[in-house]
Amino acid sequence: MPAKKTSAASKPTAPPARELLFGDLWEYDPAPESAPAFIDDRYPLFIGGEFTAPKSKRYFDSLSPRDESRLTRIADGGKADVDAAYAAATKAFPGWSAMPGAERGKYLFRIARLLQDRAREFAVAETLDGGKPIRESRDFDVPMAAAHFFYHAGWADKLAYLAPGRVPRPLGVAGQVIPWNFPLLMLAWKIAPALAAGNTVVLKPAETTSVTAMKFATILRDAELPPGVVNLVSGGRETGAAVVTHPGAAKVAFTGSTGVGKWIQHALAGTGRRLTLELGGKAANIIFDDAPLDQAVEGVINGIFFNQGHVCCAGSRLLVQESVAETVVRKLEIRMRSLRTGDPLDKNTDVGAINSQGQLEKIRELVRAGIDEGARIHQPACKLPERGWYFPPTLFSGVTMSQRVAREEIFGPVLSILTFRTPAEAVEKANNTAYGLSAGVWTDKGSRVFKIASELKAGVVWANTYNKFDPASPFGGYRESGFGREGGRKGMLEYLSLEAP
Ligand code: NAD
Repeated sequence: MPAKKTSAASKPTAPPARELLFGDLWEYDPAPESAPAFIDDRYPLFIGGEFTAPKSKRYFDSLSPRDESRLTRIADGGKADVDAAYAAATKAFPGWSAMPGAERGKYLFRIARLLQDRAREFAVAETLDGGKPIRESRDFDVPMAAAHFFYHAGWADKLAYLAPGRVPRPLGVAGQVIPWNFPLLMLAWKIAPALAAGNTVVLKPAETTSVTAMKFATILRDAELPPGVVNLVSGGRETGAAVVTHPGAAKVAFTGSTGVGKWIQHALAGTGRRLTLELGGKAANIIFDDAPLDQAVEGVINGIFFNQGHVCCAGSRLLVQESVAETVVRKLEIRMRSLRTGDPLDKNTDVGAINSQGQLEKIRELVRAGIDEGARIHQPACKLPERGWYFPPTLFSGVTMSQRVAREEIFGPVLSILTFRTPAEAVEKANNTAYGLSAGVWTDKGSRVFKIASELKAGVVWANTYNKFDPASPFGGYRESGFGREGGRKGMLEYLSLEAP
């Protein structure tokens, strides 16, 4: 039968594109995470295998960003406490470093399994203490922390294969200082390779997020780790300064801001101590016009709103090819309407609480600068909780390279969008930053991925995905993002000296 002809006038018209609107228009059923977090009223220090009252006699309040309530009190370690921690770590070093690798590995396996056993409790504690959505602490932070101990347990008896023809030797005591954005995970990144290599540790957690580190001490105790192998000294910047400058440290590993990293590099210059610095970033996430745009939009959303944007490698500068810029911005604005910002303990929450009042002020200040400097702001309508520190997901379009929102690390849920015309311009803009930690490339062409990735000055380049991590994959930066690598074989080498046989 001949096909029935349809006149242009009677042609069926495509139905208008339908938008999925969630936002605050309708409510999910309540879904709070209810596992008990078992947070003590106060946490002393953990030195020589014992919970120890600080010699400084000082404690400070630790507030929950979720509702500003006092969660617990944390010991503020002084110089004498740091001395005691180094004395315990120095005493433990000969026994720990001489232990056969297979035995050391067993302790790491045990720590990993104990962490898995208590995963729900740690996830809730991490969310209460740091403000990140429970979905992320449950599905990312805690499992990844355990994965780092599992992975490095495997290295403990294989050090001889790290650098064939050389004899690897542990360095001694590692002094480690970590930030507040991934408290338990950063602790695992630091402690697991140090122990696998045969070093002992003095670690200081960040002042706003010490709870999971101090709870981790109970895991070390349950794992029967020999006393002094890991010592945890909480406190603020003075405690941190005492940890990184202590003469007992053979190696210093710091993750935090570029400003403090520079200070540490200056303080350690000429001491001969090994140093790794994992610092800030302002990553370019680049979308070419041949990219699968819906997939790219999901990657951009994950790249900037994961952990409220408190991520050193966050894709905070979006570079979009001019021909698709309008479409991408529209798709992003629509997608942002379905993000839920609010109580981090609710399993439906996408964007949780900002870690501290100070960080919230910093984000607000930079967003004001973006508006003043002429960028176009977009924030979806959303009801923020009345108590607690929250900031709505935010997008700036029409950004130029000289604006502060394009240059400075905001460390919050704020995306700055710039455009480019040619691949060369994309690379030039991406590299036009003081940082060099990470980047993303979205394109249909495999050859373009390899070409652009080789031209980007960034420690990690993700292709057609973003924020993917694995303990076997080295992570670290160039330029003002620091030096040294964490994870994988390269990360292990940072904790060893390689000697002639
Ligand atoms: P921060 O530098 O203020 O603090 C980090 C840690 O250093 C805290 O524990 C703090 O108490 C301590 N500290 C402060 N002053 C010190 C000093 N003089 N000596 C020794 N320790 C000191 O940074 P922050 O605001 O907590 O963290 C956010 C920064 O960390 C961002 O810039 C982010 O990009 C960076 N970061 C980098 C990575 C990475 O892997 N490159 C990972 C996470 C966070």
